[in-house]
Amino acid sequence: MNPTYTLLIVDDEKQNRTLLTELLKDEYHLILAKNGIQALDRAIEHRPDLILLDVLMPEMDGHAVIQSLKNDDRTKEIPVIFVSALDSTESEERGLELGAVDYISKPFSPSIVRARVRNHIQSVHQRRLLEQLALLDGLTEIPNHRRFSQVYAQEWRRCRRSASPLSLIVVDVDHFKMYNDSNGHAAGDIVLRQVAQTLKAAVKRSGDFVARYGGEEFVILLPDIDQNGAEALAEQVRAEIESLCIPHVDSPVSPWVTISLGGVTQIPPESQDEPELFCIADAALYQAKRQGRNRVIWSIPTEPCIKPVVS
Ligand code: GH3
Ligand code: MG
Ligand code: MG
Repeated sequence: MNPTYTLLIVDDEKQNRTLLTELLKDEYHLILAKNGIQALDRAIEHRPDLILLDVLMPEMDGHAVIQSLKNDDRTKEIPVIFVSALDSTESEERGLELGAVDYISKPFSPSIVRARVRNHIQSVHQRRLLEQLALLDGLTEIPNHRRFSQVYAQEWRRCRRSASPLSLIVVDVDHFKMYNDSNGHAAGDIVLRQVAQTLKAAVKRSGDFVARYGGEEFVILLPDIDQNGAEALAEQVRAEIESLCIPHVDSPVSPWVTISLGGVTQIPPESQDEPELFCIADAALYQAKRQGRNRVIWSIPTEPCIKPVVS
């Protein structure tokens, strides 16, 4: 059904591992562990989508394993099904109390194991879809502010570790209130979608990232590229939006819809935990607006960043 899902099967008895493998191998990618320590290592290494965990095992039993899994941020969200020969209400109760999503007694019926695993994988699938939706902007279908905050923090830390440059560009549609006033909000929505798609198409390297920051504002994150490269991309994006030739009859800047961009490039300093690129790029955007819009302004990182007062 879904070989993209990975199950970790933990059982100290080879016969049980083989039995479960036979049952599930056609539907899932399987990883096996024969004791608790191995289970924890493999869970961290492979991040399976579901764990089938034996309760009775020498040294580290299933209860100790699930406690470790739940205490580790890397594994605590992985659902665990206990598979146990201990067919007692107390054992089942204890397993569920410790955070297991289900409890299957041995000897098990093959069709019940398959059905239960399938149900839990279905829940995992739905939860992932919801998580992805929560990180996408509904109108433009590109990542939203929330997703940007995650990626921004991650990329900042990553570039700081590798001492490589990180660029941030803040993009704002020019005189967009006027556009809405003359063409209606629905037409404005279409423009925002077109801008989003143009930005998305312009960034091609795998680490590059575009998001809708909010309203008619977008952000572009470009890791591992020098300032010249990032500025050139910003200028390219500006030109591409103008060349879409979306009529904006009231704009004093151009007959077409245009954008202003503020950017900054910085190798994250060792001493700085919180990125300040946004504030700096936003100040550059403010300058771009003041200097006539439909242009790119690049800032040099200053510390501390003082946010401009917008009148
Ligand atoms: P500036 O060139 O200085 O950026 O002027 P502006 O008119 O673009 O800026 P302002 O901040 O005054 O107005 C932003 C406008 O963006 C107002 C708001 O209605 C519009 N807007 C924000 N979000 C959306 C949206 O989701 N859809 C539409 N159609 N308009 C939006
Ligand atoms: Mg604007
Ligand atoms: Mg704005």
